Amino acid sequence: MSICKKEEEIVLIRESSLLVGKTLAEVAKILAPGVKTIDLDKRAEEFIRDHGAVPGFKGYNGFPFTLCISVNEQVVHGFPGERILEDGDLVSIDCGVLKNGFYGDSAYSFAIGNVAQDVRLLLDRTKASLYKGIEMAVAGKRVGDIGNAIQNYVESFGYSVVRDLVGHGLGSNLHEKPEVPNYGRRGSGMKLKDGMVLAIEPMINLGSRHVIQEADGWTIRTADRQVSAHFEHDVVIRKDEAEILSTFDFIEEIINNK
Ligand code: MG
Ligand code: MG
Repeated sequence: MSICKKEEEIVLIRESSLLVGKTLAEVAKILAPGVKTIDLDKRAEEFIRDHGAVPGFKGYNGFPFTLCISVNEQVVHGFPGERILEDGDLVSIDCGVLKNGFYGDSAYSFAIGNVAQDVRLLLDRTKASLYKGIEMAVAGKRVGDIGNAIQNYVESFGYSVVRDLVGHGLGSNLHEKPEVPNYGRRGSGMKLKDGMVLAIEPMINLGSRHVIQEADGWTIRTADRQVSAHFEHDVVIRKDEAEILSTFDFIEEIINNK
């Protein structure tokens, strides 16, 4: 398959990406201290199926749930379960859907109730770093320019970039070429071309960059147990400015009116 997508394929990837944004907003509605993470997963799966799609992660390499829910020191790939969210938690929720043969994949990190100031700043700056990366996601630049922009921005605050997990191409497969690291050298890596669709997803740690896998075989957490944040957009490479296919608008409408 060509690494650049046809316009009619991009239309379908956008549709799937928008459904992810709407699903995360649906989850945001019930996100509060006292909620069980498995209940967020159930709500998301129901919403996705009601919209003629299937959860993109469920069954992917054996992943058993609709959402990846990663709390505090958990970075990504956390399992929903009996855990009850508490005031002050940072919760990263990653969601994928498959509709019409194409995937959408987007993630947002939420503050539960009142979070500590250093957690608030990590959230805001990790989200900002995603847009720094997207600014570099234009035809003629290289994959390394994206990671370099993210890395420079977050390291200026003393944060660190997780190296073990990366962004990726996206289409009829959840993970396609190229890999999109959130660190790197300017001018390095594959050249970006009009029509390439990438999932850009900085995972940023308050402390050291090192991570370990928990005993469930999936959950990734920081080695030093300091908090981590994760935001992800699907974008299509264009000549002057990337087009963002996913959206946080629905999520933020809910958060801002709570
Ligand atoms: Mg994702
Ligand atoms: Mg992804």
